[in-house]
Amino acid sequence: MKQHSYQVVITDCDHGSIEEEKEVFARIGAELILAQVREEDEVIRACKDADGLLNQYALLTRKVLEHLPKCKVVARYGVGVDSVDLKAATDLGIIVANVPDYCIDEVSDHAIALILSLVRKTAFFNAKIKTGQWDFRSGIPIRRIKGKTLGLIGSGKIGLEVAKKLSSFGVRAIAFDPYLKTGPQGIELKDFDAVLKESDFISIHCPLNDSTRHLIGEKEFKRMEKKPLLINTSRGPIIDEKALIHALQEGLITGAGLDVLEKEPPDSVNPMLAMENVILSPHVGFYSEESISELKRRTAKNVSDVLTGKWPGSVVNQEVKGKARVPMSG
Ligand code: NAD
Repeated sequence: MKQHSYQVVITDCDHGSIEEEKEVFARIGAELILAQVREEDEVIRACKDADGLLNQYALLTRKVLEHLPKCKVVARYGVGVDSVDLKAATDLGIIVANVPDYCIDEVSDHAIALILSLVRKTAFFNAKIKTGQWDFRSGIPIRRIKGKTLGLIGSGKIGLEVAKKLSSFGVRAIAFDPYLKTGPQGIELKDFDAVLKESDFISIHCPLNDSTRHLIGEKEFKRMEKKPLLINTSRGPIIDEKALIHALQEGLITGAGLDVLEKEPPDSVNPMLAMENVILSPHVGFYSEESISELKRRTAKNVSDVLTGKWPGSVVNQEVKGKARVPMSG
């Protein structure tokens, strides 16, 4: 029987194939096991001999990690690492890695798709034609895109891409981002009020946390002087949805394009489902065949890097440096 150099376990994942992961681990002669376990005791049983883990939803609590004496690395599929007890991992010398940037193109394209569709009314006309109405006048007025101002709330990786891509349409970008001192590449930083006041399109790209929950509410809608289009591809609760519905009903904004909602999926009585100037999508911004394939390959690579003594592309618990269970170069 073939001797494997390492054992790697995928605790759980909801993607159909693990071909990318298999390819990565074949290169280092590691055995790969797909466990599909979620419960604490099952996870311990399935992973007790593992040198490395790939993880999606299964909770890697302190108890679980304490029962994995050989585990050197946990790589999470995606950005968030809420499923892993980071403090426990650090205490035990287990490196935790993630992939923070596998879908920047997808989400930025999606935000732009929502803006373009709202401005050119493609979803609106499509629905009209399919109920027998062929008349461009039903969509009047339509405004020119060139020369408009895009206001970003959060100007990190995705916000920057939205601004860069829309600049080729002749759109100027301004941004509110309290953690940046200077605006990245062609984006003018402004205070929150100025972005609300001056923008024709407002696109949200900050993370959801205590300071951004309901960042856009009743007061903020009243300060939007240009009746902008509001785009959210970040997280639903950043917008107070009751206030958004009210703003749409009162005409304080021209329309909304939302990939994320406070409640996903929305209740069947959500008034936005009947609004022609609202476009919804089912939290799909992250997804393309290519982004998922890249996510799988890079998550596996994070584990294989550690097992072969290299720091992975993105380490979440930086404090583990100096006490990792495996000798690392660099
Ligand atoms: P990022 O960390 O590169 O950028 C976030 C930016 O927001 C940072 O520049 C940060 O300084 C800024 N910020 C933080 N707090 C802020 C505040 N109170 N007001 C304004 N700006 C603030 O993140 P990213 O990769 O650009 O991703 C942005 C968000 O997109 C993520 O947090 C996530 O919620 C969302 N996302 C959604 C999908 C999807 O499928 N729809 C997929 C991936 C990411």
